[in-house]
Amino acid sequence: MTAKILSAAPVVDKIKKELINKCNDLKRRGVTPSMCVVLVGDNPASLSYIKNKKRMCEEVGAKFHLEHLPQDISAELFLSRIQVLNSDPDIHGIIIQLPVSSQLKTLNLANLIEPSKDIDGFHGLNTQKLYSGTKDLSELLPCTPKGIVNLLKFYDIEIEGKNIVISGRSLIVGKPLSMLLSNFDATITLTHSQTKNLKDFTKGADIVIAAIGKAHYFDRTFFDPSKKTIVIDVGMNTLHGKLTGDVNFEDVKEVVSGITPVPGGVGPMTVVSLIENLISATEKHIKGNT
Ligand code: NAP
Repeated sequence: MTAKILSAAPVVDKIKKELINKCNDLKRRGVTPSMCVVLVGDNPASLSYIKNKKRMCEEVGAKFHLEHLPQDISAELFLSRIQVLNSDPDIHGIIIQLPVSSQLKTLNLANLIEPSKDIDGFHGLNTQKLYSGTKDLSELLPCTPKGIVNLLKFYDIEIEGKNIVISGRSLIVGKPLSMLLSNFDATITLTHSQTKNLKDFTKGADIVIAAIGKAHYFDRTFFDPSKKTIVIDVGMNTLHGKLTGDVNFEDVKEVVSGITPVPGGVGPMTVVSLIENLISATEKHIKGNT
């Protein structure tokens, strides 16, 4: 068995075409979707993530604004800048690029952005929709979970009734993803660093989603070839200077039926989901004003 490569490229192309049409429609109605990224300091990884977000934003015809703040900005000044952006009617989506500097870490960052502009989908009012069982992918849902569901749907990978093992329980990936997939009627096992006998879970799963941040942690010994498992690799690690997933792709590809590559898998799906959220937020903004 050689795994089907579940590349993001055709999915992103399809979604981008839809977003370009929607963006043109919004422009005809007099509004250009506009996104603002708040960056504190000059973290090189953050600058590279922002470059990808800016590129995709501009490719669909939306505006991009970088609010670049100094590393040592006080919490008070930071909050006042966020307030200004929240109340700016020409900005429809805002994200705070993580990590922020230490003096800002005690702020409740997830809830600082006005919920209708929260295109990361981290605000309590937006995550509440996940708790309430939403399957509506046009809601402002967290981007990596939304991107993974869109990828599974594009490749006709059934979610309903499937046993899905997620490794990693972070607030940005594992936890919201477990809720979203449960809303689509999968049975979820959410594993973490204290899980005993992880392989017993992954070997029995229809879909395994790796989001632990450890390069090449998952090798072929985690999978049972007879299960024809689908593997979604969320990891973005650096190994020998190269971007590397949590799954050892070369070792695993002969024992699973489908696998996302790194790079070119979940990463671009996350970015396109952010832009989808921006367009949704702008559409809702227009509806609210008419
Ligand atoms: P995180 O905050 O770094 O947390 C890691 C999670 O993995 C924790 O829940 C931890 O368990 C769990 N874990 C650690 N070692 C484990 C093990 N041996 N077995 C099972 N679980 C284990 O997670 P994150 O921010 O979600 O990031 C995870 C990875 O995804 C990173 O490589 C990150 O760069 C990447 N990422 C990629 C995208 C994308 O768009 N592709 C988006 C976001 C993140 P405990 O809770 O017990 O500590």
